[in-house]
Amino acid sequence: MTRKIVGITCSQGTVGDWQLPMDYVRCAYSAACEKSGLLPLLLPVTGDQVVRAAQLDLVDGLLLSGGLDIHPGLYGEGEVHPSTETEAGGRDAHEIALVREAVARDLPIFAICRGLQVLNVALGGTLFQDLPTQVDTEWAHRQGPHSSEKTHRTCIVPGSRLGKIVSGMETLPINSHHHQAAKDVAPGLVVTALADDGVVEALEKPDARFLLGVQWHPENLYETDAPSRALFAAFAKAL
Ligand code: MN
Repeated sequence: MTRKIVGITCSQGTVGDWQLPMDYVRCAYSAACEKSGLLPLLLPVTGDQVVRAAQLDLVDGLLLSGGLDIHPGLYGEGEVHPSTETEAGGRDAHEIALVREAVARDLPIFAICRGLQVLNVALGGTLFQDLPTQVDTEWAHRQGPHSSEKTHRTCIVPGSRLGKIVSGMETLPINSHHHQAAKDVAPGLVVTALADDGVVEALEKPDARFLLGVQWHPENLYETDAPSRALFAAFAKAL
């Protein structure tokens, strides 16, 4: 059976013992897409807008993967918090351009963690640069690298796309591995999930075919958590 193609964005940088330049993304994203009946296709960072448009021509939907911080200059903040760790190799500019073009095409987008932040910045929103010092929170939004454990909960707006996907659940225990979070929400996007400390945990665009960003990592809970599988299933169905 023909599978719909989901383009997954990558990081770019020198990694591993040999410090060679690589395009890379954690395997959990493509594994979750495969198990949801999709064909994952990794999209490397490019600075060429013709190549970027060709990437979008090839896919039925876009998954914006997690990663490091977005450079604060991209949402208008001149002063960069010392804890900021940005992506190398032009990933920010590439993904922002990719999102704007994908939204113009009304291509289905599922955005995870940094992906939600990219969505918000690309469409005109801003971020908190450093959650621990900028938001009054007792929650650990930045757990360890594997993030397969649920560390806090989110409250979901009833009737939203997210609310329907999780069958009307009003609170959802989630994992959390993020340093930044959405501050001013971009025009056209709405908040559909909040943590108890007010941190934005989901954004969506109600007039889009499918445009949903979640601040947590459903790909890392795929095996054990029905709502996480439901998110990928809903995305797959929209393609
Ligand atoms: Mn969180």
